[in-house]
Order: sequence, then structure tokens, then C-alpha cells
Amino acid sequence: MPLLDKIVIANRGEIALRILRACKELKIKTVAVYSQADQDLMHVRMADESVCIGPPPSSESYLNIPAIISAAEVTDAVGIHPGYGFLAENADFAEQVENSGFTFIGPTAEVIRLMGDKVSAIAAMKKAGVPTVPGSDGPLDENSDRSMEIARNIGYPVIVKAAAGGGGRGMRVVQSEAALLNAVYVTQSEAAATFGSDKVYIEKFLENPRHVEVQVLADGQGNAIHLGDRDCSLQRRHQKVLEEAPAPGIPQEARDQVTGSCVDACIEIGYRGAGTFEFLYEEGGFFFIEMNTRVQVEHPVTEMITNFDIVKEQLRIASGMPLSVQQSDIRFSGHAFECRINAEDPRTFMPSPGKVTHFHAPGGNGIRVDSHLYGGYTVPPHYDSLVAKLISYAEDRETALRRMRQALDELVVEGIRTNADLHRDLVRDSEFGKGGVSIHYLENKLKE
Ligand code: ADP
Repeated sequence: MPLLDKIVIANRGEIALRILRACKELKIKTVAVYSQADQDLMHVRMADESVCIGPPPSSESYLNIPAIISAAEVTDAVGIHPGYGFLAENADFAEQVENSGFTFIGPTAEVIRLMGDKVSAIAAMKKAGVPTVPGSDGPLDENSDRSMEIARNIGYPVIVKAAAGGGGRGMRVVQSEAALLNAVYVTQSEAAATFGSDKVYIEKFLENPRHVEVQVLADGQGNAIHLGDRDCSLQRRHQKVLEEAPAPGIPQEARDQVTGSCVDACIEIGYRGAGTFEFLYEEGGFFFIEMNTRVQVEHPVTEMITNFDIVKEQLRIASGMPLSVQQSDIRFSGHAFECRINAEDPRTFMPSPGKVTHFHAPGGNGIRVDSHLYGGYTVPPHYDSLVAKLISYAEDRETALRRMRQALDELVVEGIRTNADLHRDLVRDSEFGKGGVSIHYLENKLKE
């Protein structure tokens, strides 16, 4: 089975460069598509071909489905890699790509749709034996007495969530019955306006969980494996800031059980490609919250501890090949951290675009930098503020953390403001150093 001959990279920034690097290794030809604000992106210069797909706003470029498909047509590409964000989890996009005769590098549109609706995702996971958060087991209906009864049975506090929600939006915590119906109503109207669906459901609100997720790969031909877990509990406004693999301090038995159930679920739903099962982890138990049907920002920490290239495997799977490895081939060793460096004001967290006058990437043993930055590059104001990912790896957690401290001290980004100092603080924080802080730890620390 030959590899895809030429693909369109339907994304920008560090992930577009990451995908391009994997293509170069596999000798897959690349087409960069870019907006008018992005002609100076590193991967646009490195790609075999490039096509401008529209004006700076993403709605007119990176979210412009006809423009992206036309770019594939005019360049004779055969596949489209969506990266993360933008159209990566848009089932209609996957469907249109396939209907136009191209390979969508990801799962089938049907599976994206199933997992994109959190209510149907949770139902599918329950059926497959994946542990879920106690909840309403379906959407709420008009019957408010019934909603109150459901919440009472779950026990307060509960969280009202939009089935189509994403990016940390469309959620509301409810402490007591008096506030329930109003919260349901507000979340419904918000969800209708933001996500185009007013479907909401209720879950038990876990008070002090960690965010632990499982990376999987499946070929859609009956084979699936997991690449272990990651801890992404350091979050601000439900957005991940610093991740690590493996998740520290989890008993091996619990780990084996949850990763095994994810692999079974992949087979059950006919999963294809790279994916992530996200869980809340509290008092030794795992509770599924959602699945991401794409490559994730934090995939490098998993690559470091498994010495396995997730993006290259995505490309092989999309070419129709069976998984290149079996579970027993995957060896876990060492520990990895990833710091997300964002172009943002360290105090207000407001985006800080502009010209990078000087950039120095750290290096040395066990350090990896995934970044599209270079001196003289101008970060445009239109997109996500992630500009670099610093990844450290070592044989144990303490050494990997020490390497990250040094790497952060070596990092120089001038001309724009970044959150590097926040990371310099975090990697010296004694609680974080011990491992296992909850999803509220960073926000509480920022309040101080
Ligand atoms: P999104 O799709 O917007 O990322 P998720 O369902 O993945 O939404 O939830 C995002 C974050 O919200 C989680 O990482 C966690 O911090 C918090 N969260 C979600 N559900 C619960 C819950 N049942 N209890 C406590 N926190 C929750």
C-alpha cells in the first residue's frame, strides 16, 4: 500500500510545521494553504507548493471549506490534514473532503459526529465499558420536574453542559436546587447562540479532580492501541497550560484498566486515526468527559515517552495501512513535560501579537521545541496565541523538570510579550513538583 502522494496541510503555526516535518520524513509532498496574514509562516516557505486561501479572518480562510478543497484540486493533492482547531472536528468538512474524492486524515465523518455530540459520545462510551461521570444519561427535556429529579438523584453540586460545547465554553456549575432551572435555561440559550444547538445535559460536578487523558491510535481495520496517559491539570479557564506524561502517581492497575477500556471503545465505535479520551480523575477513579477526534497540542509528551511518531502514524493510517505497531511494541520509558508558550500579556492574559525582534530556542539533551517562530517574524493578531511548545524529556520526572527549568531560562522571545515567566514559576512550584495537583490549582495560584 503506497503512502498518500501529496497532502494539503489545512492549518497554520506550529502544528502545520509539525505536519510538514512528518511529511518530509515520509517523502509525502506538501501543499501549504495560508491566509493573507500568513505568507511569512515558516512552513509556507518550506512546503513544496502553497496556495493563499483568503483574507486574514479564519472564517474567510482556515474555516473556508470550498477554498481549502479547491486548493487540493488545483494542486492535485490526494489528502487533507486538518491539524487541531479550525476544521479538525468538523464532521461536515470531513464529509465534503471525502465526497470531493480526497482522503480526510482523521476518523470518518460519522465517528466525528458521534463523538462531537457529548451526549451521544457518553452513551457510546458507557456501552463500550468506559467509566463515565454520573449524569443525566441523555439530554434534558422540557419537563423541569424531571430535570430537578435527575439533579437530585445525582446530588449537588452538578454541572450543566452543552452537548455541542467546546473550548471550555457552555458549562455552568450549580450548587443547589434553587439555581438549577435558571442555569439550565441560560446554558441552553447560550449553547443555541454559540454552538447552534440548545441540547444540554447534567453531570455530577467533581470538586477536586485531575485532568488525565489517554492517547489512542486505530487503523479502522480492527486494530487499536493506546500510547498511555497524560496529565493536563494545569489549566486556566479550562485551557491547558502545562502538560506531562505519564500522569504522576496513578496506580498501575487503574492505568491498565482505563487504557484497556479506551482501546476496546476504539474497536467498538470503528475509530480510525489518532484520538484522545479525556477523563477527570478523582480518588482513584476515572470518569470520561469527552473524546477529541484529532491530534492534540500536547501529543509531543507522549511521543517522548514512547519514542513513537503520532503524526507519521496518522499519515500511514490515512494511506490505508494497518497500524505499524502492536501494543506489545510500545515501550514506556521516562517522563516528559510540555510548556505552552503563548504570545500574551503575563498579567492580563490578553493576546500580544507583533514583531518578534529576537528569538532564541533552547536546546541540549532531551529538549524539543515545536515552534514556527524566528527572529523578524510578525505574530498576526487574528489567531490562537500559541507560538511555541517547549518539551523536556528525561529518564525520571525530577530530571525532566530540571531540564525544563534550564530550557525556560535559555528561551529568549523579544518584541512580544509571552507567558514564559508563568512557566518559570510553575516549574519551580513545590506542590506541582510533587505531582498530582488538581484542575483548580493554577487558577487558585493565580488569585494569590
Ligand atoms: P470542552 O469540550 O469545552 O473542553 P470538557 O467537557 O472537556 O469541555 O471540559 C473541560 C474542563 O471543564 C475539564 O477539563 C474540567 O476542568 C471541567 N469540567 C468538565 N466537566 C466537569 C465535571 N463534571 N466536574 C468538574 N469539572 C468539569
